[in-house]
Amino acid sequence: MPPKELIRALRAIVGERYVLVEPEDVVVYEQDGSIFRVMPEIVALPGDVEEVAAVVKAAKRAAVPIVPRGSGTGLAGGAVPAEGGIVLSLARLDRIVKIDLPNRIAIVEPGVINIDVTKAVATEGFFYAPDPSSQAACSIGGNVANNSGGPHTLAYGVTTNHVLGVEVVLDDGQIVWLGGEVHDTPGYDLCGVFVGSEGTMGVVTKIAVKLMRARESVRTLLAIYDRMEDATQAVVEITGAGIIPAALEMMDRTTIEAVESGAPVGFPRDAEAVLLVEVEGVREQTDQCINLIHDICRRGGAREVRVAQDETERQRLWKGRKGAFGAMGALAPNYYVNDGVVPRSQLPAIMKRVAEISKQFNLRIANVFHAGDGNLHPNILFDMRAPGELDRVIEAGAAILTACIELGGSITGEHGVGIEKKAYIGLLFSEADLEAMTRVRKALDPDGRFNPAKLFPTPASCGEVRRQPAHMPAGMWI
Ligand SMILES: Cc1cc2nc3c(=O)[nH]c(=O)nc-3n(C[C@H](O)[C@H](O)[C@H](O)COP(=O)(O)OP(=O)(O)OC[C@H]3O[C@@H](n4cnc5c(N)ncnc54)[C@H](O)[C@@H]3O)c2cc1C
Repeated sequence: MPPKELIRALRAIVGERYVLVEPEDVVVYEQDGSIFRVMPEIVALPGDVEEVAAVVKAAKRAAVPIVPRGSGTGLAGGAVPAEGGIVLSLARLDRIVKIDLPNRIAIVEPGVINIDVTKAVATEGFFYAPDPSSQAACSIGGNVANNSGGPHTLAYGVTTNHVLGVEVVLDDGQIVWLGGEVHDTPGYDLCGVFVGSEGTMGVVTKIAVKLMRARESVRTLLAIYDRMEDATQAVVEITGAGIIPAALEMMDRTTIEAVESGAPVGFPRDAEAVLLVEVEGVREQTDQCINLIHDICRRGGAREVRVAQDETERQRLWKGRKGAFGAMGALAPNYYVNDGVVPRSQLPAIMKRVAEISKQFNLRIANVFHAGDGNLHPNILFDMRAPGELDRVIEAGAAILTACIELGGSITGEHGVGIEKKAYIGLLFSEADLEAMTRVRKALDPDGRFNPAKLFPTPASCGEVRRQPAHMPAGMWI
């Protein structure tokens, strides 16, 4: 189908104003939160599942790719149209369809913003557990596609642990439910297959999520360290003592500088690292845990431990943590967020390696991360305008991921593979592993129409690990 005919067909489905083709309109969709950019050819914004299905059918007839897009906060280039086609924005599918408190579930459309699920049930004493730091902006559809985590992953798990079922549009436009509203539906766990599939198998159009009862008591403390080694060792000691906090987050000196330069929350600028630890449960239990953690931190070299005295103080600490990525703009024009994982016990070793890599490549790196999960986020600060600097950033990022693997970890904790990490996936999986995944993908998306050029290494040689060129597929600029 020629492009003009496709555009006419799409306008007939979703209406004139919801098909964007002019450069000044589609430019808004050229990038996500990563460093990858591609100008879309067409952006379609359907208003309901039937329109999504009709757009998918039109794409099939025209033989063009479909790139689902939520809020565009992804950090791996997942929503970028690497091979052109239609960017399918789910932003207008933003209804909370059902809240069923007795059964503790909600059915939501994919464009619902993460925090709005909790807001809708908070007064009844419930919450939706997965809380990416981007929760005020990211969509539940994007969370499902990336199997997102967040500061409370340590206690509650990632998105897949909170999704009971998904309604999806398949490549031929069929609308099916995978899983449902109850635990453990019979048959293959195709819902589990879809969660984390990064938009490569179909379009998620409804999600059945679990709701959790708010805890009686939440206590939060900030432990302040003069040595990074002591802070990382404290993480090992706390979990080693059998305590699983709801959150165990770390920020280093450079991150503290960024936060305090923008919207200060009172983190000490001269500290080498701070740990933000939260415990939840019944009051007696949280009081006991917070005292134990306080002692472990002090014994392990914390120079000061502050326990939040009220909800305002607690919220202030979280504002600093959750605003940390955004605050990086105070230190450099650009930053590149890396997302590696190591076993918790290797945190002291990996932080040492990150410091060495920072020196080796002469790049400032700010660390803010989910320490309890061993999930690092080194933010490499740079200036895109400086010749050659981006190349060094990419090399430094590769060195960090390689170090994570050497220490028994992985190349992504929660941000997904997207374009960014597909060159590295061969470091983790064998050709046979990747072939098995490719077969599952092909069963659901035989033409490879959904989100091509993501997740799997290209060209097809599965074991291949390419470095820099793989970050910039043809036609892509960063
Ligand atoms: C400041 C900041 C902090 C962050 N903190 C965290 C964090 O703590 N934890 C974490 O895990 N991530 C974090 N992220 C990353 C990001 O917010 C998550 O990956 C989020 O889930 C992306 O959601 P989105 O709606 O923006 O999706 P998008 O970026 O629009 O898309 C992400 C992927 O999902 C696919 N997709 C989107 N909607 C659908 C759908 N309906 N059907 C099928 N596929 C779909 C897209 O094709 C793409 O591959 C952070 C990002 C930022 C900018």
